[in-house]
Amino acid sequence: MNVYFAIHLHKSCQNINRIISTFMIVILFTGHLPNDIIMKPETLAIHAGNLFKASTNDVTSPINLSTTYLRNEEGGYSGGHMYSRVSNPNRSNLEKTLADLEHGAEACAFSSGNTAGMSLFQALKPGSHIIAPDDMYWGFKKQLMSIFADTLEFDFIDLTNLDLISTHIKDNTALIWIETPSNPLLKITDIAAVSAIAKEHKLIMACDSTFASPCLQNPIDLGADIVMHSSTKYIGGHSDVLGGVLVTAKVDSMWEAIRNIQQIGGAVPSPFDCFLLLRSIKTLPYRMRGHSENGMALAKYLEQHPAIEAVFYPGLTSHPQHEIARKQMSSFGGMMSVLVKGGGNEAKKVVNSVKIFAQATSLGGVESLIEHRASVEGPDTKTPQNLIRISVGLEHIDDLIADLNQALS
Ligand code: PLP
Repeated sequence: MNVYFAIHLHKSCQNINRIISTFMIVILFTGHLPNDIIMKPETLAIHAGNLFKASTNDVTSPINLSTTYLRNEEGGYSGGHMYSRVSNPNRSNLEKTLADLEHGAEACAFSSGNTAGMSLFQALKPGSHIIAPDDMYWGFKKQLMSIFADTLEFDFIDLTNLDLISTHIKDNTALIWIETPSNPLLKITDIAAVSAIAKEHKLIMACDSTFASPCLQNPIDLGADIVMHSSTKYIGGHSDVLGGVLVTAKVDSMWEAIRNIQQIGGAVPSPFDCFLLLRSIKTLPYRMRGHSENGMALAKYLEQHPAIEAVFYPGLTSHPQHEIARKQMSSFGGMMSVLVKGGGNEAKKVVNSVKIFAQATSLGGVESLIEHRASVEGPDTKTPQNLIRISVGLEHIDDLIADLNQALS
């Protein structure tokens, strides 16, 4: 009896809801259309959902797929968007979130990390000189040496040696690009010290902060002008979305040039990519805590392993720039590289023997990844042949240690 009553009540509520919704659609439509037009079902099927502005007070942002937006009678765009290459609600949401997380003024989101960096290089005047790290992420190094070979000048130097920076500044130097922690050697560059040099010489200082994410360090607080992330990595965090971002400390002519490249060049992330990134960002601080905790435990374990020659992890006191890392990072993340005793063959044997770690490139996902870095970078790489790069995920640390232990034995 009770069950029958409940079903009956449920059905009645459904019917009432249906009547109310139909009534509301009619009211909303009559607000937008001349009274004498009664739309046919075909028209309703296309327009019922999008001819009126719903105010459903969603708690999470809906995915806004429209490429184009209604103009008002004066020709303006009262909804704040005109065309989705220029801006889109999901992208604006993502950019605002990342600008806030990095303590910046604005952010530009791109379709990949490589495009984000490239947009900054494109914004420089032809003939400009760039100072970049000797172990700069190889994709950027390749961009400079191929795409920008005829239009920009560059020097790749050891940025942990501050004296070297000043001796490489020339009349046409426009940008100091740092990457900290660096990929794959995990070198730490002193962000505040390099920013001071850049300010003294009126140069732009940009920092690739991908390995740290916006949760472990905020370069703008230390004087950087622009922060770059491959959001494919920790920001995305689940190895299922490609993206990149630039965040600026201030809106100036350089930033306007970058915004122009983003909007007119059009290498932008899709609304769905932005939605996924925003969804991921909600757990970023907690994920970074887990990556850092596992990273520190694994680095300590590997440091005392007899088959390991060296561990590069900024959280270890043996790391040459550990004190700088302590000063500018809140914890040390999940990225590390190790040198396996022997050579390239011994290193390859390890990556082929793991069972929980996935042998794959990239980093920053919840799953642990391992790779023989030199073979990814190609024949002209300077990365040692016995180097393995590890992205420590969020599995239980005991399982990760057991897996590496069997692979190293
Ligand atoms: N910067 C660093 C430090 C990276 O590790 C990567 C990718 O591995 C990039 C930039 C480029 O990012 P994406 O692969 O999203 O283009």
